[in-house]
Amino acid sequence: MKKLMLLVLVFLTVSSCSNNDNDVITPSTSILSQEEIDDLLFLREEEKLARDVYLFSYDKYGEMIFNSISQSEQQHMNSVLTLLNTYEISDPASTERGVFTNQTLQNLYNDLTTQSKISLVEALKVGATIEDLDLNDIHEDKSNTTREDLINVYEKLSCGSRNHLRIYIDQLLLNGENYLPQYISLTEFTEIMNSDSEICGF
Ligand code: ZN
Ligand code: ZN
Repeated sequence: MKKLMLLVLVFLTVSSCSNNDNDVITPSTSILSQEEIDDLLFLREEEKLARDVYLFSYDKYGEMIFNSISQSEQQHMNSVLTLLNTYEISDPASTERGVFTNQTLQNLYNDLTTQSKISLVEALKVGATIEDLDLNDIHEDKSNTTREDLINVYEKLSCGSRNHLRIYIDQLLLNGENYLPQYISLTEFTEIMNSDSEICGF
């Protein structure tokens, strides 16, 4: 009898589903493609990479720009976390500084902090490198989606990165040093350097 009731229940559930397609709730994560999910997971920790490396440089040299830019990176991390929460994707970011789930980002953290340790100028070059890399990766993320909420966050983060890049390059120039882009095109780099600081709306 129990078995029969269960069968009836299953039948009712199945038939009610197929008769009312509009009522079927699709889990929100399935709205995003695997690529979009992977991009968000990586980006959350990529913003953490920027924050943690700048905090490392701030501890070493006490230069305020590292502190203020690291606070801005915290806001960038928060923006990505909001998207992860919206789509019920679990957060890969450790609460511990300098610790990463993604091995590529862990290796980058290790290499970039080793370089930052050398001198203030090297730490500034590391800053420019991170912003250059972020801009290039976010361009790619943007090309992988048509979703407005993702694109909005990507554009805000790019805006922030352009501002940070301007600050690091200005500081390098003041120290008699230069920087050539390693990831974005020279055209894009020149355009950024020839334009004013932007308001990004965080
Ligand atoms: Zn950022
Ligand atoms: Zn930045």
